[in-house]
Amino acid sequence: MTAAAAADAPLIGVLALQGDVREHEHVLQSCGVRTSRVRTPDQLAAVDALVIPGGESTTMSKLAVDFGLIDPLRDAQESGMPMYGSCAGMIMLADRLEGGRPDQQTIGGIDMLVRRNAFGRQVDSFEADLAMPALDGPPVHAVFIRAPWVESVGDGVEVLGHVESGPAAGRIVAVRHGRVLATSFHPELTGDHRIHEYFVAMVRDAG
Ligand code: GLN
Repeated sequence: MTAAAAADAPLIGVLALQGDVREHEHVLQSCGVRTSRVRTPDQLAAVDALVIPGGESTTMSKLAVDFGLIDPLRDAQESGMPMYGSCAGMIMLADRLEGGRPDQQTIGGIDMLVRRNAFGRQVDSFEADLAMPALDGPPVHAVFIRAPWVESVGDGVEVLGHVESGPAAGRIVAVRHGRVLATSFHPELTGDHRIHEYFVAMVRDAG
């Protein structure tokens, strides 16, 4: 059971067009914030911050356009709303995308080039421990599912983690650019809440 969040706790929206919405809600609630699902511009306008879940970025992009959300999402981003995206969510936050569908839209917000389905189709899911010096404690056990990686970042982007061994060694998989955070992996699936806690601290600092 998660204790109810304080009435003045930040309200963090979870973009609920598609993907693993419920898992993010559970972790956020255990971090002491309030959550709500975002499917409309009005619902977006009501939240202090937004989490974009993992799922399928081509579908999420299409639904964001169909629901009239893509421009409101970009406006919210530009006006400084903190956002965190995992996996497909990372793709949605990329200023530049490689391997997307020709009509695929992103919100942008992080000055980076992201390669979709980068780890390859056959070895598409794997787990690895990553050192993340921005977080206290042991390495993060990261779960990758048909994940993207970050090909390159611009000057203002802080690299928070990269793959440490194997064929993808050195690939960037966690970044922060100002109020925007993204991971290639799925911390909502492992029971380790430190990435969400880090994001909640970003939201409180922005508040
Ligand atoms: N491969 C998916 C995409 O392109 C992302 C997978 C995920 O979110 N687990 O959107």
